[in-house]
Amino acid sequence: MSLANGRHYLAIPGPSVIPDPVLQAMHRPAPNIYTGELVELTHGLIPDLKTIAGTEGNVALYITNGHGLWEASLTNMISRGDKVLVCVTGNFGHGWADVARRLGADVEVLDFGKQAPVDPARLEEALKADTDHKIKAVLTVHVDTATSVRNDVAAMRKAIDAAGHPAVFGVDCIASLGCDRFEMDAWGADVMIAASQKGLMTPPGMGFVWFSEKARAVGMGNDMRTPYWDWETRANPVHLYEYFDGTPPTHHLYGLRQAVDMILEEGLENVWSRHSILARAYWAAVEHWGQGGNLKFNIAEPEYRSHAVTTLSLGDGDGTRLRSWLTEHLGITLGISLGFGDIGSSESDGYFRIGHMGHINAHMVLGIIGAMETAFTALDIPHKEGGSVAAAKLLAASV
Ligand SMILES: *Cc1c(COP(=O)(O)O)cnc(C)c1O
Repeated sequence: MSLANGRHYLAIPGPSVIPDPVLQAMHRPAPNIYTGELVELTHGLIPDLKTIAGTEGNVALYITNGHGLWEASLTNMISRGDKVLVCVTGNFGHGWADVARRLGADVEVLDFGKQAPVDPARLEEALKADTDHKIKAVLTVHVDTATSVRNDVAAMRKAIDAAGHPAVFGVDCIASLGCDRFEMDAWGADVMIAASQKGLMTPPGMGFVWFSEKARAVGMGNDMRTPYWDWETRANPVHLYEYFDGTPPTHHLYGLRQAVDMILEEGLENVWSRHSILARAYWAAVEHWGQGGNLKFNIAEPEYRSHAVTTLSLGDGDGTRLRSWLTEHLGITLGISLGFGDIGSSESDGYFRIGHMGHINAHMVLGIIGAMETAFTALDIPHKEGGSVAAAKLLAASV
């Protein structure tokens, strides 16, 4: 018997839930792209996107996804043959490193494994060893969406400064922006990237690169700049088409305007608190269930866990069993395992992820927690009963 009819809940770490007002804002005929409303709407997004990033620097808009942003940012940040140091804490740092390598950079990876954040002391040591400043860029992911680790970006900046190193510091906030606290200028990031489809609650298809004046000045002299990805014209356009080097993503812009309004109306501090409380409701349930079975956090220390995604393991293929059962019987889809063994192996199938980014509230989280407890019972997956009560208690104490 399936009880899945009704609204399906896709609780994966991107694309995230799209709010109805965002969908409705996009449901309209094609607007004029030369004069009128859309031109004003796009100009108006620029200061608001800077507010969300916590920067007074620059922002360039692109029609692209996260992979495109890796390339967009790198072609402006470095020259061919430049050395790039990538701090990797799971999957996505390797992705950015790979793009840098294929673009012709000399890539050095500092790998911190799949269960720990970047250790700023190791970063400082690596930079101190680079006495003639061959490294031109340091890259990191704020939240690795595969492992759900969250890195301390401000501490990494301090490490770069402590080493007295001039490299440009780039941060991938694709999973975290609009979910986990991020303050670009205060934390000292020179370049930051985020896409539309995660915390920004808009369909996939738009991406953003924020960059400081320092990064801009360095970028001017780089030989990897290409016409389409060049951030200079995009950040200083005269006509609407110059924002996007061609036709703007008309309907995405209406959706994004609505999503940004929703974020700013709620207030960034409230958005971050909501994500923090809802993440901790999941964690309270998991801690409780885990006392009677194999359910485990991938990231043991709560202070290093993302508030946007939680990676869990059940062992022995049970992650995939749980996910399939939830989709078929209860109308919920959780995120697949990413980066733990080969896809289809029992190691990989032991892991799963819960996406809790963007347009989510307490009853959505409680729905998933209740559904997981139902699945554990139906599938005979050992757990200590009562995780949903633990989450309820946490939420009752938090509102
Ligand atoms: C989702 C994600 C990406 C990749 O984004 P795509 O839009 O799938 O290309 C890159 N980095 C992080 C941290 C992400 O969460």
